[in-house]
Amino acid sequence: MSENKDPQVAESGSSVEGVKFVYDFTEGNKDLKDLLGGKGANLAEMTNLGLPVPPGFTITTEACKVYLDSGEEPVALRDEVSAHLDALEQKMGKKLGQADDPLLVSVRSGAKFSMPGMMDTVLNIGLSDKSVQGLAKQAGDERFAWDSYRRLIQMFGKTVLGVDGDLFEEALEKAKEAKKAAVDTELEAADLKKLVTAFKKIVKKEAGRDFPQDPREQMDLAIKAVFDSWNGDRAKLYRRQERIPHDLGTAVNVCSMVFGNLGPDSGTGVAFTRDPASGHQGVYGDYLQNAQGEDVVAGIRNTVPLAELERIDKKSYDQLMQIMETLENHYKDLCDIEFTIERGQLWMLQTRVGKRTAGAAFRIATQLVDQGLIDEAEALQRVTGAQLAQLMFPRFDESAKVAQVGRGIAASPGAAVGKAVFDSYTAVKWSRSGEKVILIRRETNPDDLDGMIAAEGILTSRGGKTSHAAVVARGMGKTCVCGAEELEVDTKRRRMTVPGGQVVEEGDVISIDGSSGKVYLGEVPVVPSPVVEYFEGRMHAGADDADELVEAVHRIMAFADRKRRLRVRANADNAEDALRARRFGAQGIGLCRTEHMFLGDRRELVERLILADTEAEREESLKELLPLQKRDFVELFEAMDGLPVTIRLLDPPLHEFLPDITELSVRVALAESRQEPHENELRLLQAVHRLHEQNPMLGLRGVRLGLVIPGLFTMQVRAIAEAAAERKAAKGDPRAEIMIPLVGTVQELEIVREEADTVVAEVEAATGTSLKLAIGTMIELPRAALTAGQIAEAAEFFSFGTNDLTQTVWGFSRDDVEASFFTAYLERGIFGVSPFETIDKDGVGSLVAAAAKAGRATRPDLKLGVCGEHGGDPESVHFFHEVGLDYVSCSPFRIPVARLEAGRAASQSAGSDHR
Ligand code: ADP
Ligand code: MG
Ligand code: MG
Repeated sequence: MSENKDPQVAESGSSVEGVKFVYDFTEGNKDLKDLLGGKGANLAEMTNLGLPVPPGFTITTEACKVYLDSGEEPVALRDEVSAHLDALEQKMGKKLGQADDPLLVSVRSGAKFSMPGMMDTVLNIGLSDKSVQGLAKQAGDERFAWDSYRRLIQMFGKTVLGVDGDLFEEALEKAKEAKKAAVDTELEAADLKKLVTAFKKIVKKEAGRDFPQDPREQMDLAIKAVFDSWNGDRAKLYRRQERIPHDLGTAVNVCSMVFGNLGPDSGTGVAFTRDPASGHQGVYGDYLQNAQGEDVVAGIRNTVPLAELERIDKKSYDQLMQIMETLENHYKDLCDIEFTIERGQLWMLQTRVGKRTAGAAFRIATQLVDQGLIDEAEALQRVTGAQLAQLMFPRFDESAKVAQVGRGIAASPGAAVGKAVFDSYTAVKWSRSGEKVILIRRETNPDDLDGMIAAEGILTSRGGKTSHAAVVARGMGKTCVCGAEELEVDTKRRRMTVPGGQVVEEGDVISIDGSSGKVYLGEVPVVPSPVVEYFEGRMHAGADDADELVEAVHRIMAFADRKRRLRVRANADNAEDALRARRFGAQGIGLCRTEHMFLGDRRELVERLILADTEAEREESLKELLPLQKRDFVELFEAMDGLPVTIRLLDPPLHEFLPDITELSVRVALAESRQEPHENELRLLQAVHRLHEQNPMLGLRGVRLGLVIPGLFTMQVRAIAEAAAERKAAKGDPRAEIMIPLVGTVQELEIVREEADTVVAEVEAATGTSLKLAIGTMIELPRAALTAGQIAEAAEFFSFGTNDLTQTVWGFSRDDVEASFFTAYLERGIFGVSPFETIDKDGVGSLVAAAAKAGRATRPDLKLGVCGEHGGDPESVHFFHEVGLDYVSCSPFRIPVARLEAGRAASQSAGSDHR
């Protein structure tokens, strides 16, 4: 975050002399969001651009912090506010609340990030029983003055004094009924006068005090209420969910009033400089005549499309178009705007860089490049890997006529369809019999884990982005919508009631969209993402029928590829995945796991290997495994011809290849009772018992296996070498790299390496080819990272296994902890995001950085990569770029995201703050 001015900032908790707590709109600018909040910073920016902004001032977040820390406003604040109010009164030529011609202001909250739960704006501050008369005279419109006054009492009563807003609404409805008025504009001055009396009564009764008649008191109370709203429950919850720090505080804007409710030549509206859904330039927005403030979005009367304003008030319309162009050129981005027209005079009340859909983000970035407003590096900052990932999920066909029945928090993306089930047991049972199910719960807990695994998607009515359901679903890559509060989930009766009363019973089909949070009744057809079609090569950018989105993604990816330093590889174990990865832009395979090559029909061979009593038996099974492994590698080298392929030797504990202990025990017991022959089963059972580990993650696995099962690793190395030789003979260009897992000390690596070198030399001699196989290691244990300098002596490359490294650095096993206590940790802020999702920079990350440095000190040309899932996580990619790794490796579908983020990391211009 760059700030071009250097404001004096108060130390929190004290009011330091000389600190400035109030800024006039003419004093700020858009880069002071930390201090002035988003709204205040942009009001100042517009003021300084010479746009028509009603004058006013901003009370800083620092003042708010002092208030929140000490419970009192800083001493200097009152005087500063007085001085700024004086200046404002001078400028406007009238005094706040002045009886014959009152200055009125709005008090508006405005934090750095816009946030639901913050106090609503109070308009028309300064009106009282006296000044309402003055306003009426000045405006020559009694109705307007009383309408403004009743709005003040209503907003003030509700937001500052905490009176239930419905009471005012009911009184308003009654007044309308009495008058047979369809809309509020049909109420006349006399009706509104009566309404004011009724409103004041409500305040007195509910708040236990009179509506304050002193204008300054009104203003001060409103300012304090804004400060207090920072710690309101809803604001706190939102910050926790969005990972916004709790100590930022909010600014308060005091802005002189302009009136859109002065008759048909007045009005209020909102606008976007381009369509936030498609990115197209044009006139997007709504306008409402004779209205104030939120009327336009509150839906109390029908708005007209902004284009109609041209007919209603051509002069203001033209001016608005001009201003929108100025803003776009200035912010070099899509802006959204609030404006008001007072008797033909246009006023700007707010602007900010507008939110947009993922697709629009890509389109707008390329459009702005074409307009010459931004360069390629900046375009990369305008999109994110998360947005690209969102565009790659299959999505629901929105043209399908299926009813949306609710909306929750988009917790884990994807489009899932299935039968509603309300408990884990049923989810598992139904999915075993081939049904697709959606697990619906109020909230999930560790008992629901099996059901979550079995389900296509998870829907909860409670909890936010860090709830159990959300965390676990994201960890599993499963679609999840959580916190859909309008859905009434009744797990006892296995049903859910949707708004409007319709009931979803167990077995009814529903669809949930984890990217938008939307919930539908019935089956919504799923369509593939055009972006994936493009990466797959089934749709071409530049083709006649290519859509604009694909075109934009294509161009942004090219920018990223040009800028990035990090190479991107894939985690892939077979030719099919490898080929897809290549299409998606992979520059090699960073992790080929070999364990699946031991499953399926080969399991029996592996069992024999594990059970072998004699060397001859063992060699026999190894000999049978060799050609099978070799064939796998030949296919892989062919698919990845000319690109590096890193093959990891067998990693998981052996018992994973043996049958389940309980199942086997039952089989043995049955055979025994039936007196059937069961010698093999018994031997197997003994082996399973022998290999059973209390904590397999920390047991006999990885290089340890290679060292205790003679011939296992050498067989794998031979398969790799022979496969490479075969590809060479076929004029291919295999580039195999052999990777040893779970090394903790250089000695382990040295022994395996010596054996491997011998085997490779044998194959080279036998085939008459030179293979040049690189041998390296995973760095996934703290000890390996700490002794990386030594390990580099025996390794030509390091690949950081950040998943295991995270487990061993923190001392917890992912499967156990994610389901059991991560929610509590996230909710209590121990970490903001799961360290399995985004690398823990301070802990795990610092080990990675240190190991990279030590390794390179020993061996300057040491190749460095990462092959954990972090390799496809946006924030982690930036970190790996910064610590100087050569490549990241991730699952094929994450490759475009990694490419994009690597490009963004390389071109991150200081000060750019697009989230
Ligand atoms: P929000 O953050 O919810 O948009 P705002 O502070 O922007 O809250 O204000 C709510 C409504 O009141 C908006 O429509 C805004 O344009 C309007 N408004 C705020 N201040 C003034 C003012 N001084 N004169 C007229 N309308 C105002
Ligand atoms: Mg606003
Ligand atoms: Mg590992």
